Amino acid sequence: MVAGTRLTTWLTTDGEVEELRGAEAMTRAGKETPIVCHALATATRLGAKSVAAYDVLELFAFARPAQFCLPTPGGLAAVLNLAPPGDAADAAVTLQQTAQALLAELGATKENRENLGAMAMIMTQSGWRWGPAVIAALGVPADSTGGALAAWRRLPEREDGPNPPPPSDHAISGDAAQAQLAELIGDGAENRPQQFEYAAAAAAAFTPRQEADMPRLVLAEAGTGVGKTLGYIAPASLWARKNGGTVWLSTYTRNLQRQIDGELNRLYPDPEQKRRNVVIRKGRENYLCLLNFEDATRALATGPGGAVALGLIARWVEKTRDGDMVGGDFPSWLTTLFGGGTIAALTDRRGECIYSACTHYSKCFIERSRRESMTAEIVVANHALVMIRAVLEAGSGQLPLRYVFDEGHHVFDAADSAFAAHVAGSEGAELRRWILGAEGSTRRGSGAGGRARGLEARIGDLLGDDDGQAIQQNIMRGARALAAPGWLTRIAEGETRGPMEAFLAQVRHVILARVDNDRSPYSLEVSVEEPDAGLLQAASEAAAAFEALRRPMLELGRHMISRLDDDAEELDSPTRLRLEAAARTLKRRADMVQAWRAMLLDLGQATPEHFVDWFSIERFGGRDRDIGMRRHWIDPTKPFAEAVLRQAHGVVITSATLRDNPPDAPDDWRSAEVRTGAMHLALPAERTSLESPFDYPGATRILVVRDVNRNRPNDVAAAYRELFLAAGGGGLGLFTAIQRLRATHERIAKPLDEAGIPLLAQHVDAMDTGTLVDIFRAEENTCLLGTDAVRDGVDVPGRSLRLIVFDRVPWPRPDILHKARKRRFGGARYDDMLARLKLKQAYGRLVRRADDRGVFVMLDSALPSRLLGAFPPDAPIERVGLADAIAHVREFLGRSK
Ligand code: SF4
Repeated sequence: MVAGTRLTTWLTTDGEVEELRGAEAMTRAGKETPIVCHALATATRLGAKSVAAYDVLELFAFARPAQFCLPTPGGLAAVLNLAPPGDAADAAVTLQQTAQALLAELGATKENRENLGAMAMIMTQSGWRWGPAVIAALGVPADSTGGALAAWRRLPEREDGPNPPPPSDHAISGDAAQAQLAELIGDGAENRPQQFEYAAAAAAAFTPRQEADMPRLVLAEAGTGVGKTLGYIAPASLWARKNGGTVWLSTYTRNLQRQIDGELNRLYPDPEQKRRNVVIRKGRENYLCLLNFEDATRALATGPGGAVALGLIARWVEKTRDGDMVGGDFPSWLTTLFGGGTIAALTDRRGECIYSACTHYSKCFIERSRRESMTAEIVVANHALVMIRAVLEAGSGQLPLRYVFDEGHHVFDAADSAFAAHVAGSEGAELRRWILGAEGSTRRGSGAGGRARGLEARIGDLLGDDDGQAIQQNIMRGARALAAPGWLTRIAEGETRGPMEAFLAQVRHVILARVDNDRSPYSLEVSVEEPDAGLLQAASEAAAAFEALRRPMLELGRHMISRLDDDAEELDSPTRLRLEAAARTLKRRADMVQAWRAMLLDLGQATPEHFVDWFSIERFGGRDRDIGMRRHWIDPTKPFAEAVLRQAHGVVITSATLRDNPPDAPDDWRSAEVRTGAMHLALPAERTSLESPFDYPGATRILVVRDVNRNRPNDVAAAYRELFLAAGGGGLGLFTAIQRLRATHERIAKPLDEAGIPLLAQHVDAMDTGTLVDIFRAEENTCLLGTDAVRDGVDVPGRSLRLIVFDRVPWPRPDILHKARKRRFGGARYDDMLARLKLKQAYGRLVRRADDRGVFVMLDSALPSRLLGAFPPDAPIERVGLADAIAHVREFLGRSK
């Protein structure tokens, strides 16, 4: 069964093709259980929550674990070497052929059949529809015993060596960087002079620094097509090799991480060499925790269901490159199929790791990635991880000395999140759980007595003497002041338990009293100014409770450090490591509690100069999700410069869109220095700017439509429809609000489908953004609607992206934080800069290769001329009526390839 927007195609067992309406298809599916591709997306298309079906993706995940595949019939056909489906009937045939091919593969597998059979049996007992067919294909007796799900047993052990010595400090010259680049590119490849210029400029960050606390900072703007990735890999790899050091390449999006990983194949063509020298590093919350996985498989023995997901995950565990469940080789569609909660529960989200006390420590994916990144030449990481590590490991001597921040235009936003503090119910409840464990939960633990039971179970054996025990008891007493499970419901019902909940209830009261529409489906926020006596009293009591928790946390950390000295003779290395890790974690969490306390004590007084505070209720789908007080830096690049830049010796910050281009100060480096933190360093950054080699005037058209009423959803949707039709698909629709995206999708999905143009949409289709973009990239005539995340991460070369339509000028949302920044950074000019940079980013998606052509359409006639600096100076811009815009699109793209 293949569900379309209007009709569903059904291929019968006799080979007949039928077309059914949505309700008919659901009824038929209930009776005959069809084969589908992506059950959840199919159900969503049919307007249902779920559909009874054989999902061929589950069979794929079992037969070919850790392999990439687009979750579409076309994607399956591509990886299985089947004929690409031309229409829905072909697609239905593809699903049938896919199932046959995968079962045949299993029938011929050289893997341990008994183990696979046992795994399939356990999954069958949990309701897996494919189970009997898989067992039959394997040809083994059905047997569910033997620990088939215990994939950790089949992983290799890691052997840790000593920590590497610090790197030496030999300089990389511009000439050497260029010679390395020439080698990486090879003889046959296109020679781009700008790329060589770029490599030489980036090399300046790989020379010894001149002053303490001052890195060699290079700000490098390079237009699309310059080839900056290899441009910085060239000096970075040379430096790493020559000095025995590691260079961290940091990105904002996963998409770019993947691209860099691909480019590194040129540097390390031998996979084994690459495995030793390149590590993709993410936050611990991205990786599978083997102990959590073991817990989950043990819980199966006592609870029903769940074995289907665990069986597929067990298959992946045995084959994965690095255990990354979020964006690595774990299929993102599997996360959607089983629900994010299942996957999240298996990662180390709550800091419950017990380190060397864990029975899986020598096989742990997180530890492996951490250890390997110490000896690798190149680590590919993300901005958030780099910033958080810089704070947590300051002074440890373990931090990298050389960085490249690609997507440098996002340093500001990444720092904004990394350095913020929230006294929120969710955070309080999380800390409470970390200390007290899962209260009232019957979840079984393992390893050191079950980590779900909290601090005592995790580190009780490290306390040493009665003093340690007493301090721990004080921490546990203190944690009872934090928000407890069920806090959100209690507060909504007017009840509270403990000082933190009492404070949050007061916050909620103030917000609801001050906002105009307390029933708004969106999140609410109000200023912290003029708090009333009730709120101040609750804040003061919560602050005192935080202090009563913080003090013993610090004390226990000190106690553990002193044990390292006092008991040096009897402590083995794993225990020393655990003591150090526990002391570090306690200190980090105590510092967080101190930040909360400081925020509460500041209430009723002026907010400290560099911060902005506010109260908020986070809502999702009209329901309250969190309540709290937030504190952000007005300029988050200040702590970024302090924590990351100052301790580094060399940094490249690069992007295609570093600089703003206001009418009165073209190519404004000041904007780049403000957004990257360079302005907080005493030494000036070295600047380089290289134009894109692409012929934008010839390859693009920019149209501002002047006669679409942006406040009338029907008019906006009609404009999208006609523009997408004129382009024959390949359109990316960008929206500044989800509600308007949905309204347009509702109106145009069917007419586009009738014209043979599939439409995908973020926030509508039951797939994650990365998968939607992958499908959009692979299918030339598909259109995609999305918001910010789509605009930032899309790299779609070729005809698949030939038209971008923006619904409105992307002005920043005037929330409390933005208003504070606007005051600090130049008023209306700041708004202009942000909008221009967003437009520049979006326009930059259009031409990714020299032979790409594309049209950029802005449907908002209120686009002021001063924002046109977002586009290349010689690119043709016209203000036209919609009819002319449609004709332009048809004509311009009609002439293309
Ligand atoms: S060492 Fe920590 S993260 Fe790794 S498997 Fe054990 S508990 Fe999980």
